[in-house]
Amino acid sequence: MTKRQIVRIDEELCNGCGICVTPCAEGAIEIINGKAKVVREELCDGAGFCLAVCPVGALSIEERAAPAFDEGATHEQAASRGRTYIAQSCFACGNTEDDAPLIPVRQSTWACVRCLPSLIHS
Ligand code: SF4
Repeated sequence: MTKRQIVRIDEELCNGCGICVTPCAEGAIEIINGKAKVVREELCDGAGFCLAVCPVGALSIEERAAPAFDEGATHEQAASRGRTYIAQSCFACGNTEDDAPLIPVRQSTWACVRCLPSLIHS
């Protein structure tokens, strides 16, 4: 255990909508019994990409004792859960993942690969 930043989920506020699951590239969050849960703390890097997508403000980052982030475990998790559909859309053009792959560009802001070159060079 080490003291570090990690996501905190307020289960009183969480409505189980599931929007926060796919922004977590590490696969740390799952919906269990209608509530978002950090399934394995070593999967959460504390980056907070999940925070702003929550419609009820149930997610925050706190500093607490937790297992160290384990990048190897995130690769295993990604392999076991397969491809996931990202529910967000491109902030520049509105594309969804049906239109073009999406990547996170800022905390909880996503851009599609079609817009990315012009965003980088503008
Ligand atoms: S986005 Fe918010 S309300 Fe929805 S499942 Fe995640 S924590 Fe719960």
